[in-house]
Amino acid sequence: MASETKTRENNSFVLRGIKDVLFEDRPVPKLTGPYDVLLRVNYTGICGSDVHYWQHGRIGHFVVNDPMVLGHESAGTVVEVGSSVSSVQKGDRVAMEPGIPCRRCVRCKEGKYNLCFDMAFAATPPYDGTLAKYYVLPEDFCYKLPEKVSLEEGALMEPLAVAVHITKQSGLKQGDTCVVFGAGPVGLLCCAVAKAFGAKKVVAVDINRERLDFAMSFAADAAFEPGRVSAAENAQNLIKHNDLGRGADVAIDASGAEPSVQTAIHVLRMGGSYVQGGMGRDEITFPIMAACTKELTVKGSFRYGSGDYETAVNLVSSGKVDVKKLISRKVSFEDAEKAFEDVKNGKAIKVLIEGPK
Ligand SMILES: [Zn+2]
Ligand SMILES: [Zn+2]
Repeated sequence: MASETKTRENNSFVLRGIKDVLFEDRPVPKLTGPYDVLLRVNYTGICGSDVHYWQHGRIGHFVVNDPMVLGHESAGTVVEVGSSVSSVQKGDRVAMEPGIPCRRCVRCKEGKYNLCFDMAFAATPPYDGTLAKYYVLPEDFCYKLPEKVSLEEGALMEPLAVAVHITKQSGLKQGDTCVVFGAGPVGLLCCAVAKAFGAKKVVAVDINRERLDFAMSFAADAAFEPGRVSAAENAQNLIKHNDLGRGADVAIDASGAEPSVQTAIHVLRMGGSYVQGGMGRDEITFPIMAACTKELTVKGSFRYGSGDYETAVNLVSSGKVDVKKLISRKVSFEDAEKAFEDVKNGKAIKVLIEGPK
């Protein structure tokens, strides 16, 4: 791995192939349109998907064929603006939304741009990510951080926007009960968003006791560790131990694990709402009869769309969600690979990588 980084113009952390990363000096990106903004990247969080590309060189049909810069959870500072930019100016600190839709297709036009047919998403092949010194975004994908919100917190807006989207998809209402499966970063943030949206009780579910303890200290009202029994039995125990009456109003899967998905369907009340947020195996055994006879609403959730980043910034600036608690540590850009190693080994919730000096 290369070491000398100081003199580089746009030092970037590049994935060349499976477990093959290096620092590379890339050209400083140019503004390509009047609404573009050049950003100096200050902090980038590492996500499971970054680790997955690093370990496997692919996610589903997205394959890393050419060298690609990793990273997509970033906050930065505006260093240059295009001639028509009006919402941000030089020196502004912003959360960076890392996926640019085509703005022209049917899904874009109906307002669901996360479902765009031609999305350019950072660190999803063939598009470069944000683990670089500089990055260009259109101004409407830069969200100004209020003064009291730090750049570190700004880097957490991406996973928080994911959680906001999932929770909005669930249709959770004031006073609802909500069970969240998986206490990784997104699951933890779903717990916090559900509370902020007025949930009466949020139960976190995980097979890892340490994660459950953290969930309790972060945003969950209760924790449940599933036993080695059937999904239906775990659901019955979960309902009983947490006074969920005839079942939970909302169940969110942020784990992607088959037993979680099954338990989530069984834990819901008649007419309850289920959202699939976690990504695991492509296909699983699904309790479809329960989904049918309980007349459940079952939805997917993918990335984030209109209004989600705004909601995320609001939740943090209003103090309703304390994302700082999720930051395990910060490392220098030079230590990026070490940070990936730690996230892979489950030694951290969120590690932030500082932008190159
Ligand atoms: Zn992510
Ligand atoms: Zn589109």
